[in-house]
Amino acid sequence: MRVDKRGWFVVLLLALVGLFFAFDLGQYLNLATIKSRQAELEAWRAGQPVVAGVLFFAAYVAVSALSLPGAAVMTLAAGAIFGLGLGMLIVSFASSIGATLAFLASRWLLGDWVQSRFGERLAALNAGVAKEGGFYLFTLRLVPVLPFFVINLAMGLTPIRPLTFYWVSQLGMLAGTFVYVNAGTQLARIESISGIVSPGLLGSLVLLGIFPLIAKKIIDMVQARKIYARWKKPATFDRNLVVIGGGSAGLVTAYIAAAIKAKVTLVEKHKLGGDCLNTGCVPSKALIRSAKFLSHVQRAKEFGIKSASADFDFADVMERVQRVIKEIEPHDSVERYTGLGVDVAEGSARIVSPWEVEVTHADGSKKVLTTRSIVIAAGARPFVPPIPGIDQVEVLTSDNVWKLRERPRRLVVLGGGPIGCELTQTFARLGSRVTQVEMLPRILVREDPEVSELVAARFRAEGVAVLTGHKAVRVQGGGLEKVLVVDADGQEKHIPFDAILVAVGRVANLKGYGLEELGVSTGRTVEVNGYLQTNFPNIYAAGDVAGPYQFTHTAAHQAWYAAVNALFDPFKKFSADYRVIPWATFVEPEVARVGLNELEAAERKIPYEVTRYGMDDLDRAIADSEAHGFVKVLTVPGKDTILGVTIVGEHAGDLLAEYVLAMKHKLGLNKILGTIHTYPTLAEANKFAAGNWKRAHAPQRLLAWVERFHAWRRG
Ligand SMILES: Cc1cc2nc3c(=O)[nH]c(=O)nc-3n(C[C@H](O)[C@H](O)[C@H](O)COP(=O)(O)OP(=O)(O)OC[C@H]3O[C@@H](n4cnc5c(N)ncnc54)[C@H](O)[C@@H]3O)c2cc1C
Repeated sequence: MRVDKRGWFVVLLLALVGLFFAFDLGQYLNLATIKSRQAELEAWRAGQPVVAGVLFFAAYVAVSALSLPGAAVMTLAAGAIFGLGLGMLIVSFASSIGATLAFLASRWLLGDWVQSRFGERLAALNAGVAKEGGFYLFTLRLVPVLPFFVINLAMGLTPIRPLTFYWVSQLGMLAGTFVYVNAGTQLARIESISGIVSPGLLGSLVLLGIFPLIAKKIIDMVQARKIYARWKKPATFDRNLVVIGGGSAGLVTAYIAAAIKAKVTLVEKHKLGGDCLNTGCVPSKALIRSAKFLSHVQRAKEFGIKSASADFDFADVMERVQRVIKEIEPHDSVERYTGLGVDVAEGSARIVSPWEVEVTHADGSKKVLTTRSIVIAAGARPFVPPIPGIDQVEVLTSDNVWKLRERPRRLVVLGGGPIGCELTQTFARLGSRVTQVEMLPRILVREDPEVSELVAARFRAEGVAVLTGHKAVRVQGGGLEKVLVVDADGQEKHIPFDAILVAVGRVANLKGYGLEELGVSTGRTVEVNGYLQTNFPNIYAAGDVAGPYQFTHTAAHQAWYAAVNALFDPFKKFSADYRVIPWATFVEPEVARVGLNELEAAERKIPYEVTRYGMDDLDRAIADSEAHGFVKVLTVPGKDTILGVTIVGEHAGDLLAEYVLAMKHKLGLNKILGTIHTYPTLAEANKFAAGNWKRAHAPQRLLAWVERFHAWRRG
């Protein structure tokens, strides 16, 4: 067996602690011993002051670094031997150095493991420690009711900086050190260690301990006042909440607010429903459906049909998309929301003060609404990169592609993310000659490489030219032919096109509605804390404008927190929970994921086991001629706890729901295996994946005994 450096260090620590107990050194670190030998110790210090000081200091560092019992007695002894001033000096430095050594040892031995193993779950704590760890440590140090060594070891497992740990510890322990060293100067009168800290004194120390928290609250309040200082707060408000933007985030925010009887105004400048209904999820899925039908026609022979053809007009297909939008529109209509108790204002919103939103209506009239809180849900828009020459051609994006009524003969899709991929396959199926250009080495780069390969292979089989590792360098649109020039490994290639669709990402809408003038902090998105609060505590943000996810379901999820926090702060607020976030890319084969994939697990050094189930084995998938793809489950090694799932195949997004529920409610693979799944369904794949896990973890020894038992029963 190989023992690494950490192993040897543990052996050394255990040996030192073992020696301490083997030689019963603890006997020298109890009150009675110190009291009985006080005169001897004082004489020793008087005779050899420097040696006594250095040795005492070293012993104190060792006791605290090794987390041995006796630090309290040694603190008393310091007072007794060296007096208040020198005793304080020795103990203050020795205890802080010893604590920091214990902290560093704990971090070195276990810190990486804890962070990689539980990092995801500790994310909020880590963020809190990174921001305010010093405050919390100070509080813990001031309150001596919490064991000294526990704090050292536990803080080692957090990301707090060692230097911060050192100086905050030293400062925080001063009061407690003073109490004990001072008591030590009166050693003869002390009967027990617990007697030193009277309930009154303990109460004062606890008060001192919570002082930094109170101070922090006061600082927060002062900062908040500073932020608000430029504006006069209205004495009363017309409403509790104004929501800016009527997309997925804004609609749900307004709905929740109205449901809990708040007075809420939802302002939308364009169309209720936002991107999802008008230019995003709904039209894309409607178009995907028509394109899928055409792909089935192409595959007629696979289904036993001799020949099939489809005569269609591209414009009709695009009109169907609009009909689908119209059909869903009532779900997000002004009438519906008004009926739910939301005051809907059609117009453009601008924040003019932290409590006032000005609404400009289509006829130019303006109205200022006063409100206690604001939720910004202004969404995002497609990003068009500044590629030279791109302004010479008409660029399609997810915003305007729905207006097309003529099918582009040759279409370039720039971008290999989910939106780029969905539109690439769809237009190829509708008959465009599509070239997909992605500068990264593969499409769907957030997914595992095998997923990207499967999707790219399918695209190629359907006639798409998938060009990964190709960077768009310029567009030539001046002459008769429009051409995209790309660079691959230093070689330029020319791709002629009739239309170019840019899908390289979406940027948050941050300009033009008062954020800059007000001073709301922004980066790539509106900056929010865990409660979705901006730097103005009464102004919140949710959805694409806040990030980090850009999905309808995450927008709706955040909306609940934004609404509730905006309405109930400071009485109660909830931190948004991002632990289990699913998503799907609606290409064929469909790709769906929740939690970690292999790529992320490896990046975060999280140990995992992989269990796979191939859809080519599934009865229903075979019957449907869709026997392709897989279910891949990552679990904690040796356990059925699910870390993440990737499903590739028919209806992957729907199949994923079972795993989302399992992860959310901490159900393991054994529970999925023990659940009856209808035969023959695609959902059975989930159960079979769990079955594969179970087989791989069958208790072989026990089974050998069971085999013997059966043999015995046969006689
Ligand atoms: C092509 C495409 C396909 C997609 N497919 C999916 C999918 O399958 N699944 C999925 O989960 N997500 C999908 N998405 C993403 C999804 O559409 C977004 O994540 C979601 O719409 C974000 O909602 P939101 O409320 O944050 O923003 P939005 O829906 O953009 O809403 C913001 C609203 O705010 C309004 N607004 C902005 N400024 C003001 C102002 N000053 N005053 C008044 N109103 C204002 C805008 O007009 C807009 O209506 C897709 C997106 C695209 C583009």
